[in-house]
Amino acid sequence: MTAEPFQLREESYLSIYLWNEKDSKLKVGFTTKHGGQSIEEFSSLNLGLHVQDQHESVMKNRNFLSRNISFPLEKWIFAEQTHSNNIKKVSKPHSGKGIGSYKDGIMDCDGLYTNDKGIMLSLCFADCVPLYFFHPKSNFIGLAHAGWKGSVQDIAGEMVRKWTIDEGLPYSEILVAIGPSIGACCYKVDDRVITSVNKVLLEKYPLPYENITSGQYNLDLKQLNKNLLMQAGIKVENILVSQQCTSCETDLYFSHRRDDGKTGRMLSFIGIDEEA
Ligand SMILES: [Zn+2]
Repeated sequence: MTAEPFQLREESYLSIYLWNEKDSKLKVGFTTKHGGQSIEEFSSLNLGLHVQDQHESVMKNRNFLSRNISFPLEKWIFAEQTHSNNIKKVSKPHSGKGIGSYKDGIMDCDGLYTNDKGIMLSLCFADCVPLYFFHPKSNFIGLAHAGWKGSVQDIAGEMVRKWTIDEGLPYSEILVAIGPSIGACCYKVDDRVITSVNKVLLEKYPLPYENITSGQYNLDLKQLNKNLLMQAGIKVENILVSQQCTSCETDLYFSHRRDDGKTGRMLSFIGIDEEA
């Protein structure tokens, strides 16, 4: 059993300590539900603007997080996420997109990447898989949102192809981290989902699901995305995988499945400071 790559930095977020060791200016993490101002089902650090929480509370929470990690909110970039495999390269002029309004985020987009310093990429989560991409030599950073739909559309592989084919980065140097998300323990799916999984995945990789009863499966979305990353050319030793389940870890995370859809959102974030 390898060590958990995502470790609590403080009550409001976890960080990928192995990556922080590679670049002291890298700010990367995944938030918890603690330290915010929201109440009831959004208690307390809800960071999603599209979930019927009070707008003012979410803004307080976003400002709290940005102060906490010393990265001003006007440098953050959010997206309007649609369970697609659409990925957009962003740069400094996109700073501030979606910080105060969900609809002002990057439209119809589930993956962001950049090689600009001084901007923070961020996406919202409540069970789906956060994928983090990092190429230390060139300062390329990226994030993707992979629920089952994004996963079977191979958003993981799409990001790898953007970085290698479009940007010319070497496959062997790309680091990927798969963050906390719903585990196979808590994620039951039907034949429709499994048929899509089988279409996208080569048979040589470990099966990411288990048949429970007729037409019922437990799906391991993290393993599925790990397989897709390897299939796209990422080295297995360059992939970190969180063992945390957002549904099991009741005290730490919001969970869309566990909370029947009425719940808050965590954020994944990654950015590189430009300060000396
Ligand atoms: Zn679980």
